[in-house]
Amino acid sequence: MAETEHNVIIGTGVAGNRAAETLRERDPDCRITIITLGSLHFYNRYSLPKVFQGCDDWRQLLVHPPSYYEENRITLRRNTRVINVDAKRRAVTFAHNEEMHYDQILVCSGGRGYLPEGLSDFAGLMHRFTSFEDAMVIRRLLPAGGRVILLGGDMIGLDLARTFVETGYDVTLVANDFTFWPHEVARQDRGTYEKALTNMGIEVHRGGRILGVEEGGEGKPARRVVFADGEVLDGDVVLPFFGLVPAVEFMLGSGVDIERGILVNPHLCSTDDHIWAAGDVCQIWSPEKNTYRFYYGWNNVRDMGEAAARNMTGAGEPFANGGGEDLRLDKNGRLLSPFWDHD
Ligand SMILES: Cc1cc2nc3c(=O)[nH]c(=O)nc-3n(C[C@H](O)[C@H](O)[C@H](O)COP(=O)(O)OP(=O)(O)OC[C@H]3O[C@@H](n4cnc5c(N)ncnc54)[C@H](O)[C@@H]3O)c2cc1C
Repeated sequence: MAETEHNVIIGTGVAGNRAAETLRERDPDCRITIITLGSLHFYNRYSLPKVFQGCDDWRQLLVHPPSYYEENRITLRRNTRVINVDAKRRAVTFAHNEEMHYDQILVCSGGRGYLPEGLSDFAGLMHRFTSFEDAMVIRRLLPAGGRVILLGGDMIGLDLARTFVETGYDVTLVANDFTFWPHEVARQDRGTYEKALTNMGIEVHRGGRILGVEEGGEGKPARRVVFADGEVLDGDVVLPFFGLVPAVEFMLGSGVDIERGILVNPHLCSTDDHIWAAGDVCQIWSPEKNTYRFYYGWNNVRDMGEAAARNMTGAGEPFANGGGEDLRLDKNGRLLSPFWDHD
């Protein structure tokens, strides 16, 4: 490998960071650049519920100290949006019109929260929970002992819900087909798992169709969710949790195959030999299932970053799924999920 090989990683989440670490271990001389939209250093998003337990300094959530990047000769470009990848010229374009050449690129751009179309008109009355900044905003809006209304309730939302309950807030979950995402729960098992949520102190509302989210009335909590049958739920904040959609828009002109995520082979290489993908953004070919599929969870995503980097440096090993994808109940009948586990 040439000394000046330039490996560009898009994304400073768990996949991108593990990949950078692995690339540096395996090739002390290559040039590594990580690009991220975000302004903060890599912190553990799974720990964001700690904000509601009193953590108000994002530096407490950092995975590496800021000096890590310089010490490992990794260039980190923050506040930088990739808008295009030109596979023929092997160049990435940033929103501010700069171009950067790459020899190999690893896309670890993750996903963002999905909002069903019927709810998008009310986006301004709901709060996203994707970053430290979002968590701080929600914390400021919630009065002590206030009520949180969760719409949908994917596993990110349910993780947060259990922290809310533990810290003295009330939680109402408006359950629907997205509840428990990305776990696939058979219709006949839904009742068992919803009961497990009740055992955890979460009030489960199997409501009908949501008509909208409105500002609360005089002397009432700040928000109300209105259902088609006229029922109304009052709460201080409304948080939508409908799973993630892969962040692939900047890859659309690259020519690589994309379905929902970037399609990669078991070695995590896309349909272009110089473009790799890992983490929430990619769908990996599964010979057993004869289809492309997503693998979620911190450990899987970290292992994907590592596998991609090993293969970019010639290892030739397929990604091995860490396993354990089923919902479980603990001895007190409370919900457990491998999605919540991380080393
Ligand atoms: C608040 C929160 C809590 C979560 N909790 C859990 C949990 O408990 N368990 C679990 O399994 N999963 C959880 N998830 C999902 C989890 O984030 C992912 O499974 C995992 O962290 C994905 O890592 P990743 O490296 O693939 O991408 P991400 O961590 O999503 O990182 C994506 C990176 O790509 C960058 N990026 C995206 N687009 C561009 C662009 N155009 N230009 C430049 N940079 C770009 C972003 O800035 C970011 O740095 C949570 C997600 C969130 C948002």
